[in-house]
Amino acid sequence: MQASLFNVRVPLPDRSEVFLMNTLTDAQLIVSEDVATLLDRLDGGTSLGDLEADEREAIDTLHAHGFVAPSREEERATLDRFFSDFREDTSQLRLTVLTTLQCNFACDYCFQGDHADYNAKATKMSLQTAERVVAWAETKIDTLQPKSVALTFFGGEPLLNLPVMYYLAERVWDIAQARGATLLINVITNGLLLTPEVVDRLVPYGLNGIKVTLDGDRETHNRMRPLRGGQGTFDKIIRNLGQVAGKCRISIGGNFDADTVDSYPALLDFLRSQDFADDIGRVNFKPVFRDRDAQPPTARVDHVGGRRMIPLAAVDGHGKPLGGTCMTSVGAGGSSPCDSCHFVDEQLSFLREETKKRGFRTKDGVHMGPCELHKRHAYTIGPSGELYSCPGFTGDPTLSVGDIDGRQQPWQRAVSDRFEQHAPWKACGDCSFIPVCGGGCSVAAHAELGDMSAPSCHKSSMETALVSLAQEVASGA
Ligand code: SF4
Ligand code: SF4
Repeated sequence: MQASLFNVRVPLPDRSEVFLMNTLTDAQLIVSEDVATLLDRLDGGTSLGDLEADEREAIDTLHAHGFVAPSREEERATLDRFFSDFREDTSQLRLTVLTTLQCNFACDYCFQGDHADYNAKATKMSLQTAERVVAWAETKIDTLQPKSVALTFFGGEPLLNLPVMYYLAERVWDIAQARGATLLINVITNGLLLTPEVVDRLVPYGLNGIKVTLDGDRETHNRMRPLRGGQGTFDKIIRNLGQVAGKCRISIGGNFDADTVDSYPALLDFLRSQDFADDIGRVNFKPVFRDRDAQPPTARVDHVGGRRMIPLAAVDGHGKPLGGTCMTSVGAGGSSPCDSCHFVDEQLSFLREETKKRGFRTKDGVHMGPCELHKRHAYTIGPSGELYSCPGFTGDPTLSVGDIDGRQQPWQRAVSDRFEQHAPWKACGDCSFIPVCGGGCSVAAHAELGDMSAPSCHKSSMETALVSLAQEVASGA
């Protein structure tokens, strides 16, 4: 018997107690310091026979919650089963459909959108392709027989292709209904074209939530997410949110960098003061990546404390933009901080606390993975019907894994085989966070390190978040 590899702990000195969490079982306990010491004694070689009766009883309880494991080998085997079960789970079929790569915003940090002639060239899904998507989805649903289907509309700006969005929602709902499965529709949008009509049209087909991005307070957002002519978009988005509030769940996302992070408390105060504040389900902010070699439209490149920030637009290993999906929502699937330095780790913690202070729900910063990249039955479908392993890899055909027609070029098979073996956590040694991290965001690893197989590690961020979680549990919040 030994203490589990996946135990993490936070001392609660004012109470002479310790918060214990096991990241594999998700058990969370507050125990006396003696009990925590007992785990250390086990690791130090103390055998069960050397323990007092009450200590053995405590060990039994710890064992029941996964804090004590028979051996490292067994625990490693359990971890492998955990990832395998996660990967092969058929209870939910997840489909992310990029209805278009066009966008009506000209965001400061994004290569796509309304810059130069991007929109003229960007692909938009046709109704014919949408029909093929429906046929493909029907086969998948028949094969997997999932309890639910999560259909996420994404882009570009998905509301720029309403006919395809409505068609897919209605047809997939029919198919799911006929097989007793629940359809959950999510829309990730910049919010400019979000109207009650759009929401009313989707609600009967299982609209689950709308996620809208606000990049700071009014002034900051208008600077970061303007229209092509430079007009601000904040007021219109807030008006739109007010009109759809109460009809569906709303969540707010936001992208921050060194210049904009300080504007977020003002944004949170503003949101709290709105009539629709209580209709906001979640608020999650994440950093913008910038890369010194990749030139955003304004040719603005930031360096923070000597560290580079990578552009939010996905870039390949050489800093070349992938030209694919808007990265506004990377991490939405299951999620990752996708950050790149300790500066960002600190700011993430700051924004998380500011968000909670105003009564909004947000990610706890500990349960960050594994993300949907590690799920076999999570598919991202590009506007032409090409398949990707996750939304972050869209747009670069060299990273697609096949097509909804079943066609698979030899190079796509090679990419697909690579994702089949994808297990960045295997390079994470004895890290206790592996079950709730999975090695981080592989898109970030691809962009930052040029190696998607490598872990993208932000352990210090998780450690800080763990302290916050411990305090919350201890206070009974
Ligand atoms: S690899 Fe990154 S972008 Fe892709 S699903 Fe995971 S967290 Fe999101
Ligand atoms: S990426 Fe870092 S935090 Fe995540 S499992 Fe690996 S070592 Fe741990």
